[in-house]
Amino acid sequence: MSGSLEPLAGIVTTDLAAITRGRFVTEGRLSQIAATGVGWIQTNLSLTAFSTAATPNIWGSAGDLRLIPDFKARYRCHATGSQTPFDMIMGNLVEIDGSSWSGCTRSILRNAAAALENATGLSLKASFEQEFYLLGQDPGPGHSLSFAALRRADPFAPQLMAALQEAGLNPEVILAELGPTQFEVSIAPTDPVAAADRAIAVREITRELARNFGAKASFSPKPYLDQPGNGVHIHFSLVDKSGRGKTYDADGPAQLSAEAASFCAGILRHLPALVALTASSAPSYYRLKPHSWSSSHTWLARQDREATLRICPVLTMADRDPADQLNIEYRAADATANPYLALAALIHAGLEGMTKGYKLPLLTAVNPEALSPDQRRMHQLERLPGSLGESLDALRADETVTGWFPKPLIESFFAVKHSELARLEGLDNAAVSELYRDLY
Ligand code: GLU
Ligand code: MG
Repeated sequence: MSGSLEPLAGIVTTDLAAITRGRFVTEGRLSQIAATGVGWIQTNLSLTAFSTAATPNIWGSAGDLRLIPDFKARYRCHATGSQTPFDMIMGNLVEIDGSSWSGCTRSILRNAAAALENATGLSLKASFEQEFYLLGQDPGPGHSLSFAALRRADPFAPQLMAALQEAGLNPEVILAELGPTQFEVSIAPTDPVAAADRAIAVREITRELARNFGAKASFSPKPYLDQPGNGVHIHFSLVDKSGRGKTYDADGPAQLSAEAASFCAGILRHLPALVALTASSAPSYYRLKPHSWSSSHTWLARQDREATLRICPVLTMADRDPADQLNIEYRAADATANPYLALAALIHAGLEGMTKGYKLPLLTAVNPEALSPDQRRMHQLERLPGSLGESLDALRADETVTGWFPKPLIESFFAVKHSELARLEGLDNAAVSELYRDLY
């Protein structure tokens, strides 16, 4: 049947609830809409995860925007097995005169990346490593990380890798994770906007493929209260104009260069506010708890999976150059956060750290949970907010962080998130977890 159908390309934008929405045109029409895009409206930025409009909705019912396709960010593949190809083109939101719109999170990230480069001569390379559960699959005997757990779902994993490869996403590794029917997939690093684009494309390709297997992929941060959560680990490193790594210094704190140390110090300083933008739903905070390999404190550590900023290992074998390897992993993120805003927030915090020359706190290799309150104070270790409400309060209180974003955007964010919280009133954690398992 697909032979007689003209395939559609979706021009998309991802909103504050981290839902990717868009409009479709036939492939044949793409050249006609290349310059002026498709229609969009301001009020869509007020949509919640439940697809209701937030209260207050600062955008009202009037206004028009254009969603302009960025053909360099087109992800197309047949290997999801659907009747017509998966075809997603990332869009930029502009006013009807073509000027940038303040609510376009993709443009916000592009501007943040440019600000870093202009101010420091360095740019960021990033990659989103994502975990998900395959709902509706037989969990089998449930050996974490096992060969059998991946093979049981065959050919899901090879088919996913084929689809990601075909779409140009450069997949690296796929594995069965700790939870029953939980998987993780990583892709190669790239510039910040492409990294966020690719995170979205990976999710949507995975979801489509899972549907074609009669299953459902859930990227929700805590699909089951009693099982490991789904993290989105944002890997990043600094590179100079020639592409050479600038994150490593054998003599620096935790082997970080002075630039990378200040970048991380900026993130640590604003972390309680930043998590609202990187872990943006109620169940996000069921995941961000001690002893769950997610993160729970304003803690940077080498090779420790409880740290919020984990310095990844440098291989000292096979003549590998440390400068081109070292990267840092931000672990307090998940798929309920808009990836453009999440990465933009990290870049702004890092840039502030670099321009103000922030120093890292006294580092500890000991899990903060094992330290006394006095020791934690000495190491500037703070517990991350324990709920979305708390992280929103921390964001509201940190005017430096809110000041990095256009006011209408940040006010919409608060309205969307508080409206989502209002929708959950009266539900216990198990019910919230179940609800989000389906939504994400
Ligand atoms: N599933 C864990 C999380 O919630 C991460 C496990 C790992 O280290 O990959 O972040
Ligand atoms: Mg993992």
